[in-house]
Amino acid sequence: MLKRLFNWLLGLIKHDDLYKYKFVDDVPESISSGKIYIVGNKGYHWQGVMLCPCGCKEHLYINFIEEQHPCWTYKIGGEKKITLHPSLWRKTGCKSHFFVKKGKVVWV
Ligand SMILES: [Zn+2]
Repeated sequence: MLKRLFNWLLGLIKHDDLYKYKFVDDVPESISSGKIYIVGNKGYHWQGVMLCPCGCKEHLYINFIEEQHPCWTYKIGGEKKITLHPSLWRKTGCKSHFFVKKGKVVWV
C-alpha cells in the first residue's frame, strides 16, 4: 500500500514519464521499464509485454487475442499515446491494479 502511494506521488512529480510503445516481432530478451512492447507481425498483434509499474520487475504479459481470456485491447491515440483496456490486475505477487491511459499508469 505504501509502495503504491509512493509510486502515485512519483507519478505526480514526473509528469512527462509516459509509457512508450514499441512494435516488435518477438518478446525482447530484456524488457525496459517505461515501455510497452507490442508483439506481432504483418499487422496482427497478439501480445503486449511490459514490466510491472510498481517496480517489482515482474513481466506482465497482456493477451490481445480475442478468443483467449482474459483479453485486452490497446489503442494508440492521435498523440501517439497508448491506452490499454480494461485495467491490468495482478492476482498474484504484488497484486498491482492499474490502468494505462494515454501512456500514463493510473493506479486503482
Ligand atoms: Zn508489481
